[in-house]
Amino acid sequence: MGIVTLVVRDPRRGGAQKALSCELSMLTRGSGFFAAALAGVGPGQDARIDVECDADVFVWILRYMKTQHASGGDVAGCGAARGAAAAPAAGPDAPGRAHMQRRHQGGSGGSQELAVGNCLEILVAAEFLQMPRLAAQAVAFAAARLPELLAARPEPAPLGLLPPDLLERVALAANEAELEEAFEKIGACGGERRCRPLQRLFKARLSALLRAHDTVLLRCAACGGLFSAAAARKLPCEAGGGGGGGGPHDASRLLLHVPDPNWSFGDYLRALRRRERRSHREIYWHVWGLVQVCGWLLLLLLLRLLLLLLLLLLLRLLLLLLLLLLLLLLLLLLLLLLLLLLLLLLLLHYQMRVIC
Ligand SMILES: [Zn+2]
Repeated sequence: MGIVTLVVRDPRRGGAQKALSCELSMLTRGSGFFAAALAGVGPGQDARIDVECDADVFVWILRYMKTQHASGGDVAGCGAARGAAAAPAAGPDAPGRAHMQRRHQGGSGGSQELAVGNCLEILVAAEFLQMPRLAAQAVAFAAARLPELLAARPEPAPLGLLPPDLLERVALAANEAELEEAFEKIGACGGERRCRPLQRLFKARLSALLRAHDTVLLRCAACGGLFSAAAARKLPCEAGGGGGGGGPHDASRLLLHVPDPNWSFGDYLRALRRRERRSHREIYWHVWGLVQVCGWLLLLLLLRLLLLLLLLLLLRLLLLLLLLLLLLLLLLLLLLLLLLLLLLLLLLHYQMRVIC
């Protein structure tokens, strides 16, 4: 049974080192990073790895690995836990870290549960160590506890330490209603400073929104209106447009928006931020409205086309009925004329007989 000695250098404690030992199989199964780093080590061999990380976070993660390893049916020993117990001043049982042991509502990570005080650090570490399940749990936890994260004293939780991709994952895990709820709660008691991390989440969400719709905003050269590029060549222009793209006899040519080639969406966003001092939250809802409204407009256009087709169909049916009625009337007139002729002939015949 190979044992790995992990030498953890903690930059928060001035580079203080802490040696932990752990089963090789548990490390390689629990983390993609360690699996790659220890790929050349045989099952019965020992190894040593230097790690730079917050010691408490690393001990927490090793315990999580142990829990997962044990729940997988293996009876895995974990020297890390023993190492942590031997150094209580820096371990997860130390004062101030007791919250790491608390269970959070709906958690599913075994005895190691995430907390408001450690979820962001654990998320960063889990992503680095290639532990996707733990990273997903930390993302969901952070998104569900945003108001608590931002209300933390004396400073809000450092969402800024998350790299852009993780920040976006947290932003997407929380829906818009939850972000707004957190904004109202935090804004009411903490002011603008505590809302800044939320603004970063709205910024991350804006990128995701545009990517999800595969679009940017464009400006119409004819009417000056903004519209989603995904809906270009489909939206009607109030000023008459001119970009239908069809031939000179194409009826839609005179109805569509025309993208202005000199207008830049990036410059527009920068102007909103710098000149108009609009927050990321305001910009998000502004763009969201245009992207979604374009979608609704398209739906309305389709409905209008459908109604138009139905009306045309009804008109054709009415014309057909009118033609049939006219034919019937003509037939009736012909019959009447024939009857009149017959009567006239009878009358003439009768008069001739009287004269004779
Ligand atoms: Zn237009």
